Amino acid sequence: MDLKALIREIPDFPRPGVSFKDITTVMRDPAALAYIIRSMARRFRDERIEMVVGVESRGFALGSPLAYELGAGFVLIRKPGKLPADKIRVEYELEYGMDALEIHKDALAPGQRVLMVDDLLATGGTMGAAARLVQQLGAQIVGFAFLIELAYLGGRQRLEAMGFDSDRILA
Ligand code: IMP
Repeated sequence: MDLKALIREIPDFPRPGVSFKDITTVMRDPAALAYIIRSMARRFRDERIEMVVGVESRGFALGSPLAYELGAGFVLIRKPGKLPADKIRVEYELEYGMDALEIHKDALAPGQRVLMVDDLLATGGTMGAAARLVQQLGAQIVGFAFLIELAYLGGRQRLEAMGFDSDRILA
């Protein structure tokens, strides 16, 4: 299926010079949505995934049906101040300034087999930070699934530098 044709590109969003990949046009297509979730599930079907971890917010939209498809639970990584219970936080650098992500302390158990999901891999800063949170809780990251990879921004290499195999990064 030609998913690329369904991705809408918005020039100069959220700021001049950036060409934003809008996946709302993919997700509203029933056949495309089914294709994406089934493709991701097929890759990790035999990996005994216990928890899918989605990164706010498009990682939720893809991660939750993927968890259901894999017979796994679903865990949220959120922007600061959104999670209500005891949590840990990681800060990470953006192109301009800093951002942070949080996860509930009791969201994952040590050793639990986890699949990380987001819509898009660019520099890998966001997913790298999310992976650190999961590792701090002692869970085991089995793989990563993205809908889009902007390969020229080096996110894959950044995750590899953290010790993850490229063949476990699906994009
Ligand atoms: P990174 O941290 O540089 O890898 O950027 C990835 C994060 O930024 C993900 O959470 C994406 O949802 C978001 N992101 C960056 N660029 C785009 C885009 O063009 N479309 C949608 N999301 C984007």
